Amino acid sequence: MPRKAKDLTGQRFGRLTALGPTTKRASGKVVWECRCDCGNITYVNSRDLIRGNTRSCGCLMIEVNRRKGRLRIGSNNPNWKGGRKINKDGYVLIYFPEHPAAQGKGYVLEHRLVIEEKLGRPLRPEEQVHHIDGNPANNAPENLIVFANAGRHRAYHRKLDLIAEET
Ligand SMILES: [Zn+2]
Ligand SMILES: [Zn+2]
Repeated sequence: MPRKAKDLTGQRFGRLTALGPTTKRASGKVVWECRCDCGNITYVNSRDLIRGNTRSCGCLMIEVNRRKGRLRIGSNNPNWKGGRKINKDGYVLIYFPEHPAAQGKGYVLEHRLVIEEKLGRPLRPEEQVHHIDGNPANNAPENLIVFANAGRHRAYHRKLDLIAEET
């Protein structure tokens, strides 16, 4: 091995616990044998584990999608009243205690769920979502942009402010 691989044995990544390295490599990274909380064994390379790209055997996304189907997130379903509320900053919260980003009372920001569905993967905690029209409750997928972190998001706002001053 050219470089010494990081020992991840016993570490947790979302629902996954790294059991041990395999002799396999994926894009130059060690592939780890991992056990998911649901009991499945899965194989994930160290980069995807460390970056949080893979956080379950696949059961997490299935659950997320099943629940989204039930909630009809983003639509104004008049038949469904419970489990959806607006916080003091004007953001929509969805009751979703199984979601890895759920806060203390089990609510998740709706715009994060909508973006996760659009991207087909869970958002990393540091990723931020911007509302193009400035309305925090407009969670239509086309109204949302993802930024890798708060710094990128702030830089984008500064650029928007400059354009506003020039015009
Ligand atoms: Zn699983
Ligand atoms: Zn923003």
